[in-house]
Amino acid sequence: MQPLAIQTVKRALKWSLWRSGLVRALARAGRGGSEAQRLIILNYHHVSAGPGGPADTPFETGVAAREFQQQVRYLAAHHSVVDLAEAARRLAAGEALPRPAVCLTFDDGYADVYQHAYPVLRRLGLPATVFVSTAYVGSDHVPWWAHLSRMVMKTDREELDTAGLEALQADAAARQPFALGTRSQRLKALAALNEAMKHMPEAGHDPVLQALSRRLGVPLLEGQPGVWMGWEHLAEMARHGITIGAHTVRHPNVALLGPDEQRAEIVGSKQRIAEAIGEPPRLFAYPFGLFDASARGIVAEHFAAACSSERGANGADADPYALRRISLGWQRLWDLAFLLAFPDGPAARRVA
Ligand SMILES: [Zn+2]
Repeated sequence: MQPLAIQTVKRALKWSLWRSGLVRALARAGRGGSEAQRLIILNYHHVSAGPGGPADTPFETGVAAREFQQQVRYLAAHHSVVDLAEAARRLAAGEALPRPAVCLTFDDGYADVYQHAYPVLRRLGLPATVFVSTAYVGSDHVPWWAHLSRMVMKTDREELDTAGLEALQADAAARQPFALGTRSQRLKALAALNEAMKHMPEAGHDPVLQALSRRLGVPLLEGQPGVWMGWEHLAEMARHGITIGAHTVRHPNVALLGPDEQRAEIVGSKQRIAEAIGEPPRLFAYPFGLFDASARGIVAEHFAAACSSERGANGADADPYALRRISLGWQRLWDLAFLLAFPDGPAARRVA
């Protein structure tokens, strides 16, 4: 069967299970389970006004605002939405958590989170954590993953050949020519290119983006105003139950940096948030969820807990500096219900 057909069958099956109430029964069963402790941390990026996310934000990391509202109401009804710093502390101390405990996190610091998620969270009185890359707060910076997504999704070319693009040749999945005839082919190409660029030294990003821009016939944006939150938005949210966490200064893959650069990125973002918000952040999230032992060590010196993007729930034995999360993007409510019922299922794709 073609991957698309398999996906369609899977979705139909999930939908009928959802209609039957089985998923909600599974969610309820989590409350009375025998596990002593289990913490599920959900990870969002964009919360956008359009049905599938605005054209210029990466499709795979954008949940529609209406969908997000449904998801949050579902969580408020069937789960205990708890503060991440307190939940991580209890987990590390071996103290009980309300069951089934869920934390909400939003990475990077996009303005649409302030516009579309924050009002809902505030109305429902739910805690959440926003992890911010401090260099981009209030800026019109276009991150490489947004350039990439925009070019691949907007191009009128039917295929992309990456031959001759030196920096992509190290990655087998990014080396082959990509068909771009259908939406699912474009998403597949985007996933492969995203993965290759995450693991590439930063010096390679600009040449790759310039070359892809020429090959795909889509000019690179110079800037994109209004994409990032300003410090005033973050300060307002911090006054109303939202925790501001650090996510480095410029959002690099810290595993590719030397210890001095790691320290500048990790500690620099902590200091900038402390200056702007008036309180040093206690939580950190690794960009792309990627880190090495050295970065973990620096984070452990400066923060109370940190999140990776490794999929799964966190038990009593969880590493407080590599807490697992479940990344959400295009999923519908019934997908979320399944992810909550089976958080340790097949590895999901990592996102920014
Ligand atoms: Zn990020």
